[in-house]
Amino acid sequence: MPMLHGCAFSGCSTFTLSTYCVEHELLVRAVKESERTHATEAALAADAPLAADAGLTAAAPEAAAS
Ligand SMILES: [Zn+2]
Repeated sequence: MPMLHGCAFSGCSTFTLSTYCVEHELLVRAVKESERTHATEAALAADAPLAADAGLTAAAPEAAAS
């Protein structure tokens, strides 16, 4: 039978069956998701200038016509 123990998050004394209490389980998960998102954004940002140039070039003829 699993034993209740303190949440692994420093400073948290909530008892839980898993590593973290529900609150910090969600927090840790959100941080991991955020890190993954930032890594993806960084990869996309590397291509951003090219994409912006392409968009500008494509938009220019229409802007000139109107
Ligand atoms: Zn906690």
